[in-house]
Amino acid sequence: MIPAAFDYLAPTSVEDALAALAEGGDDAKVLAGGQSLLPILRMRLNAPEKVIDLGRIEALRGIRDEGDHLVIGAMTPYSDVVESDLVREHAGLLVDAVAEVADPQIRHRGTVGGALVHADPAGDVGAPIMALDAELVIAGPGGERTVSSDDFFVDLFETAVGEGELLTSIRIPKHTGWGSCYEKFVRVSHQWSIVAVAATVKVEGGVIQEARVGLTNMGSTPLRARGVEEALRGKAMDDVPAACAGAAEGTNPPSDLNGDSDYRRHLAAVLTRRAVLAAMGG
Ligand SMILES: Cc1cc2nc3c(=O)[nH]c(=O)nc-3n(C[C@H](O)[C@H](O)[C@H](O)COP(=O)(O)OP(=O)(O)OC[C@H]3O[C@@H](n4cnc5c(N)ncnc54)[C@H](O)[C@@H]3O)c2cc1C
Repeated sequence: MIPAAFDYLAPTSVEDALAALAEGGDDAKVLAGGQSLLPILRMRLNAPEKVIDLGRIEALRGIRDEGDHLVIGAMTPYSDVVESDLVREHAGLLVDAVAEVADPQIRHRGTVGGALVHADPAGDVGAPIMALDAELVIAGPGGERTVSSDDFFVDLFETAVGEGELLTSIRIPKHTGWGSCYEKFVRVSHQWSIVAVAATVKVEGGVIQEARVGLTNMGSTPLRARGVEEALRGKAMDDVPAACAGAAEGTNPPSDLNGDSDYRRHLAAVLTRRAVLAAMGG
């Protein structure tokens, strides 16, 4: 279907985009890579009067090294993340996960910021962002604020980005030297995750010093498996399976045609074990 008619704006600065959003109110919608928004408009599930394209705002693109953390602009396409040596070296988990998003065309158009604000619980960016302890920078009429990834995802398709606000960048503390793995379970390639697990570990002398584990599609938002992270501390490879057994504790996974919640709970434990062992180099 063809979307309902709308006015198209393409501001070149964050300030102009915020002004256009304020003026448009409820009737304005921000466009990033369009990979989620355009299908919604074409199906007429939403019919904004004004579409504000962020594609010409250079300040929202790119990957920077800022000392102890990386900054990724919200409009940075997935493909730039996958090809970035900087992200591979300091936040390898994000490269592992983003490389699993859909296909090359979608990775070329889709953006890290668009995926995070869209907040599909089956999306592949939320869990690694949580596991990496990232912070999200949000700009609005009152200035800029920073939200931790723990507080960013509010509910199904709902984030801390409020009306009239924009996600501008993602700040990721460096995890240099950490091993990582994203285990995505799908029935056919290029599908959304039935369940996926994002794991990154710091290992010394064969023993886990620190572990971070994020879960995809195990509830209405991405989740952090903190119990598993605790259980993994001080463990060697042989002890990993037992430490990962409780990966689904405290989760509320959906049931759908791809699998019921019990199946997803089972998958979470299996994929966590695999992801952690692979991150350790096993
Ligand atoms: C066939 C297909 C398969 C896919 N498979 C996968 C998959 O396997 N894994 C996966 O993770 N994703 C998948 N996706 C989704 C893809 O990752 C999208 O690119 C992503 O969800 C949205 O990113 P976008 O840049 O295209 O955002 P858009 O579609 O442009 O925007 C999405 C939403 O976020 C809002 N928004 C965007 N940027 C900002 C911002 N900076 N500030 C405030 N609001 C903003 C928009 O207003 C809109 O509501 C798939 C998509 C398609 C079409």
